[in-house]
Amino acid sequence: MTDIVLETPTAAPVQAKPSLVGLTRAQLAAALGAVGVPEREQRMRVGQLWHWIYFQGASSFDAMLNVSKVLRAKLAETYSLSRPEVVAAQLSKDGTRKWLIRMPPVDARDKGAEIECVYIPESDRGTLCISSQVGCTLTCTFCHTGTQKLVRNLSAQEIVQQLVVARDMLGDFPGQTRPDDDGLIPVGEGVRPVSNIVFMGMGEPLYNFDQVTDAIGVLTDGDGLSLSKRRITVSTSGVVPQIEPLGDAAGTMLAISLHATNDELRNKLVPLNKKYPLKDLLDACRNYPGASNARRITFEYVMLKGVNDSPAEARQLVRLLKGIPAKINLIPFNPWPGTQYECSDWETIEQFSDIVFNAGYASPVRTPRGRDILAACGQLKSETEKLRARARLALDDEDQASAD
Ligand code: SAH
Ligand code: SF4
Repeated sequence: MTDIVLETPTAAPVQAKPSLVGLTRAQLAAALGAVGVPEREQRMRVGQLWHWIYFQGASSFDAMLNVSKVLRAKLAETYSLSRPEVVAAQLSKDGTRKWLIRMPPVDARDKGAEIECVYIPESDRGTLCISSQVGCTLTCTFCHTGTQKLVRNLSAQEIVQQLVVARDMLGDFPGQTRPDDDGLIPVGEGVRPVSNIVFMGMGEPLYNFDQVTDAIGVLTDGDGLSLSKRRITVSTSGVVPQIEPLGDAAGTMLAISLHATNDELRNKLVPLNKKYPLKDLLDACRNYPGASNARRITFEYVMLKGVNDSPAEARQLVRLLKGIPAKINLIPFNPWPGTQYECSDWETIEQFSDIVFNAGYASPVRTPRGRDILAACGQLKSETEKLRARARLALDDEDQASAD
């Protein structure tokens, strides 16, 4: 695939004033309190701001016509509605878009974290793949992020801002215009350009639990960004003690990065398995609040040549998942410079997928999307920090459609 189109990045915002975009209701109330709005008024004012920031996508306080002029002026003096800067934007031939987003520095030592955000359009939905951390503390041996140190957790605000940036870039707020995209963004009755979110970018979301669940609260708030909880999937490498709390606090869909069917191999691929072995992980899945045949848990399985891709392992995978409402996503391994692994051959993946399919799991292999721009990811990386994201979908069409 070629034909990479470089989109125009957004202009660098001046980050002199803290932005209100991405804040929770409680944080907005505190911001209002700080400019002298009395407590008894805060709830009502938060409601107004919420509508303008998250429903309308306002980028200026002037637009907020139902907020008094005096308060608008006060807010504009202290705060901004700026978004993090998009420093590079790429559009793949298949419509996949990748944005390199630079977060403003949080303190004098912070150089400003950079993260990649990937948008994957399909005919009936658009999925945004977002990050929860910069880097990762875990060290899965097949994952490029695992070779980098954790730079830091992202705040709930920075997590939410990834969706706001995507909506801006896709012209998805009222009054904005869609980019000229040759029909690559899904349209139709009730279909939003970003209808689904997967936490499958950088980082382990369950090691940044509070910020991730706060962010999900903002993303799913019906008066604002309004994403359905069933269209948000949190992917974890298996932080067992946080799985049930995630279901209770956020009620989202769950994806497990399984990748192996026995502890010995999983210990090598996903070293967190030494702490939380397969049995504990699968028990936690069995108890995941709200899991049912209509709301299945996704099991991700990266296909590594000669490592985890034998027919016996496919059969073992099916046995392991017995009794769990599950769907399986086979992910062709995405190689990176210096990796010891290779992607399984296509015939091997097909054979593996047939075994899984014959056991009753539909459409297990996803065609890799945006491969052309993922390949170009290395170029982005050399110019910026060591960053990468994976453009994949872990949502099964049929299940998802029936879930809503
Ligand atoms: N830390 C979380 C979420 C981010 S990773 C987790 O591990 O689940 C998202 C998915 O991409 C995980 O299933 C991860 O195992 C997979 N992945 C990582 N590196 C990959 C690679 N090189 N090729 C294909 N998939 C990869
Ligand atoms: Fe971290 Fe997930 Fe990569 Fe493992 S696969 S190193 S948990 S980002």
